[in-house]
Amino acid sequence: MARKVLVLGEVRDQSLRNVSFEAIAAGKTIAEGGEVVAVLLGDNVSALSTELIHFGADRVVAVENEKLQTYTPDGYSQALLSVISEENPEGIVFGHTALGKDLSPKIAARLGSGLISDATAIDVTGGNVVFTRPIYSGKAFEKKIVTDGVIFATIRPNNIAPLEKDDTRSGDTNTLSVDIKDLRTIVKEVVRKASEGVDLSEAKVVIAGGRGVKSEDGFEPLKELANVLGGAVGASRGACDAEYCDYSLQIGQTGKVVTPDLYIACGISGAIQHLAGMSNSKVIVAINKDPEANIFKVADYGIVGDLFEVVPLLTEEFRKLKVHA
Ligand code: FAD
Repeated sequence: MARKVLVLGEVRDQSLRNVSFEAIAAGKTIAEGGEVVAVLLGDNVSALSTELIHFGADRVVAVENEKLQTYTPDGYSQALLSVISEENPEGIVFGHTALGKDLSPKIAARLGSGLISDATAIDVTGGNVVFTRPIYSGKAFEKKIVTDGVIFATIRPNNIAPLEKDDTRSGDTNTLSVDIKDLRTIVKEVVRKASEGVDLSEAKVVIAGGRGVKSEDGFEPLKELANVLGGAVGASRGACDAEYCDYSLQIGQTGKVVTPDLYIACGISGAIQHLAGMSNSKVIVAINKDPEANIFKVADYGIVGDLFEVVPLLTEEFRKLKVHA
């Protein structure tokens, strides 16, 4: 059954987050041959429309308003609900990002629809769109279908492959004017906690440090390795609690959930709450002095040793490989 599906294009620092392209791919599956309409919300964002078309969107609707310059639940929900009432979609997809997690339940409640959150795979079987999502902190997976109303889902970054970019694709791009009513909250300033560089939740490579890193300076070799591999640095709560790094780097049950292609855990014991945020990574490498550390139970490759010796050696070897590549 062909459907019209709305997909939210998420913008950060005037560029599209990768999850937007993954959402288009998810939208295509749900649309079953129907139309995928990408939505852009912000101030000066229309220029990004073409990229969404190149990644598979059939059409783009941009809502430009200075009140949408920074995300607010009030402003974004007013803008999005206007697009939804104009387009009347049968499916909606957001990224399961901080923004998507905040906005999607509000929109679902307004629409009186259900919401399948944090989907890691979408298939069409037996005439149903079937969503797979992790439960019990990633220890099991459930499959869900929507039996009534709008098919509304958020997708976990790094799990659904985007379509190949095609610079020759074309599609309509429109701007919708929406009167954003007074906002209850206004963001005056955004103070960045995390360092610049690769976004942790979308990174293909994550180098994470735990209490074994021992100090703020102890993160330096990890940053160097991340740099060489084009990855992001993450941390256990142990490292954050010890003030070796900022809480914005925390991975786990009460931190970020990541699913990179490669996760290198350095000096992390592997507590269940940490595993909840990284155990679905595609390849896990653990470096720990203790051969009995729990992290080795989920690791594909384990290195028993001192991280301050192992990490610089890895950096050196990867650097050599890059030079010869
Ligand atoms: P430790 O458990 O102290 O482990 C340090 C490891 O480093 C050890 O295995 C040690 O062998 C190794 N090591 C030491 N020196 C070296 C060296 N030189 N080279 C190599 N290895 C070395 N934790 C999270 O991470 N994320 C969460 O989201 C989270 N949420 C939580 C929520 C709740 C409600 C609770 C109760 C706890 C939560 N925790 C979370 C905390 C969790 O239980 C652990 O306390 C924490 O993950 C431990 O961090 P760690 O592995 O860095 O430290």
